Amino acid sequence: MHKLLTDGHGRKASYMRVSVTDRCNLRCTYCAGEGREFIPHPDILRYEEILDLMDMATRLGVIKFRFTGGEPFVRKDFAEFMIAAAHRFPGVDMCVTSNATLIGDHVARLAGAGIRRINISLDTLDPAKFLRITGHDLYHTVRDNIDRCLDAGMDVKVNAVAMKGFNDDELSAFVDFARNHPLDMRFIEFMPVGLETGWNDQTVWKAEDILAQAQALAKLTPSPDAGGVIGGPARMYDIDGGKGRIGLISPYTNHFCDTCNRLRLTSDGNLRTCLFSDKVYRLRPVLRHPRLGIPAVERIITRASRHKPMGYKLLERMAGQGVCKTRMASIGG
Ligand code: SAM
Repeated sequence: MHKLLTDGHGRKASYMRVSVTDRCNLRCTYCAGEGREFIPHPDILRYEEILDLMDMATRLGVIKFRFTGGEPFVRKDFAEFMIAAAHRFPGVDMCVTSNATLIGDHVARLAGAGIRRINISLDTLDPAKFLRITGHDLYHTVRDNIDRCLDAGMDVKVNAVAMKGFNDDELSAFVDFARNHPLDMRFIEFMPVGLETGWNDQTVWKAEDILAQAQALAKLTPSPDAGGVIGGPARMYDIDGGKGRIGLISPYTNHFCDTCNRLRLTSDGNLRTCLFSDKVYRLRPVLRHPRLGIPAVERIITRASRHKPMGYKLLERMAGQGVCKTRMASIGG
């Protein structure tokens, strides 16, 4: 059965990132930008439609889902939806990526429903810089909510987009943060995805440089990535005498396309097989068509998966520009 989502390079898609909305309450300069249009509500997949697509994906061999956005928690009843999804797919790895500004009231219920893993985006440990990059004075809310997740026993990964000229002066603070908290502090290389993000190759703070600089600040030992049922692309390091770990994700300088197992479903029902490509497969009209529906969608996904590209080839061809014009906030990261 799993062969159905195997591509021409022998990779098997087993992980689907599901964006539930393109709306976000923050305006991170490198991700959302200003003045963009949102997907009209009727074009956003209903929760029942998402569950039907997840059901189909599990039959095709997907064993891990990550909900993302926009910001998933801005969508009405998202926490209830995620809990319902966790109940419906009990053996499946289910996690969420959030900016953690709105999760405070939901943490206990999510943890109680068995949702143990959360990725939280936090690009700076300086409240003034947080305001500058996100447009909102919510740094302390995020920090409090990280504590709440930890107190609820969740496995917390904090992700910072590593940007020269923005947070490369904070490495020591980030290392201390990971030393003092039982969480994974991961740096993701800034990617040339979306237009007007401020990306250029001078703003990329490369994973190898981060590692070398961090090694001068702490004794780091390679640690196996305990990233759930299927490990992720992060290289993780234990910090001598620390509670947490440091991690590096290097999609730009050291791509992991050879082992890419991801499919992406956007909130308006488009399938993307590669983050670095604008190619989309429009599932929504097929899903909603009275005579087509899930069996036809299944055929599209199976065929699309076979043609999943090697993203780094697109990166090489498009060096210096945005490889994919769609904003990360619309794709889901
Ligand atoms: N709102 C949620 C959040 O803040 O995590 C989920 C959506 S956000 C698009 C998902 C992730 O993509 C975040 O960690 C964000 O920092 C990351 N991201 C956005 N633009 C990026 C870029 N150009 N390069 C690398 N990561 C990026």
